[in-house]
Amino acid sequence: MTRVYNFSAGPAVLPVEVLEQAAREMLDYQGSGMSVMEMSHRSKTYDNIIKTAEADLRELLNIPQNYKVLFLQGGAHLQFSAVPINLLKNGVADYIVTGQWARKAYIEAQKYGKINKIATSEDKNFSYIPDCSNLDISKDADYVYICENNTIYGTKFWTLPNTKGKDLVSDMSSCFLSEPTDVTKYGLIFAGVQKNVGPAGVQIVIIRDDLIRDDLPSWCPEMLKYKIHADNNSLYNTPPAYGIYICGLVFKWLKKLGGLSVMKEINVKKAKILYDFLDNSKLFKGTVEKNSRSIMNAPFITGNDELDKKFIEEAKNNGLVQLKGHRTVGGMRASIYNAMPIEGVEALVKFMEKFEKENLK
Ligand SMILES: *Cc1c(COP(=O)(O)O)cnc(C)c1O
Repeated sequence: MTRVYNFSAGPAVLPVEVLEQAAREMLDYQGSGMSVMEMSHRSKTYDNIIKTAEADLRELLNIPQNYKVLFLQGGAHLQFSAVPINLLKNGVADYIVTGQWARKAYIEAQKYGKINKIATSEDKNFSYIPDCSNLDISKDADYVYICENNTIYGTKFWTLPNTKGKDLVSDMSSCFLSEPTDVTKYGLIFAGVQKNVGPAGVQIVIIRDDLIRDDLPSWCPEMLKYKIHADNNSLYNTPPAYGIYICGLVFKWLKKLGGLSVMKEINVKKAKILYDFLDNSKLFKGTVEKNSRSIMNAPFITGNDELDKKFIEEAKNNGLVQLKGHRTVGGMRASIYNAMPIEGVEALVKFMEKFEKENLK
């Protein structure tokens, strides 16, 4: 068996220990005689799995009691609809558009209300986070929306926008659990787990109690009502049961590591290795303004498409895979999520040094 260093943006690398435990428990989960995949979501054993996962997540993020945790399906994309459907009361929301995912959410929300784009970084191909300290927040806005870590462009909000008292909604798909988060600063957080937490198919929503409503329009599908899922502890219908189990194992892994402050330290260290190299390289360069850089996704280019192609190909032959950048940025992108070991980043930088020597004319 050979494991590669997988820099995929998502679905992405998971901790080896977690995969090994899942393998050990594949045929017989803790004496149940069956796989978690084969188990009724109404069974006592599964109830314990989902309850433990929630309790561990609450502990990791220090989630206050007045916030509900929901394990849902439909990806981040379904939240682009669920958020406006559930949260619009006045019918107005303010969106900060810092990349493709935020733009998609912004466009989707327009089906449901008056949606304002109050800031954007599209003038420079989303290579920075705009100053959001004093935006023109709409008086009657029901919420302010951000995509906190822009997976494609490699930018991150290091300072949250000043929402002037409005509730903040954040798509945290690609930075969820990468660092401690003060949940009380948000009305709602959502994250698709396939970036930093687990297998595709699970969507985690953390929502403050008072935003969960009963008076939604009659056309609203039951499955899109946060209230339905909150009232049923994410067991209204069959949840993505196996995926939640893997998320639970990742939560345990994070706790064992020492929690999210320790995780952040490691992530910062990993990102620094890569960015320090990029800042001193004569061949490669990062595409993002320094103070907006993500510690999860790092896009970079040589400035020569042919050379980029050659790099991606040769890296792959050296066990460094999925380094191709998103088509809208070009070049390369290294996603260095929680589960990417520091050795993976070191191996990447070592290979980049070698490639630079060989190809710099
Ligand atoms: C990947 C990603 C999405 C899309 O997730 P799906 O699960 O494919 O719907 C949305 N937002 C962010 C920040 C992402 O990284």
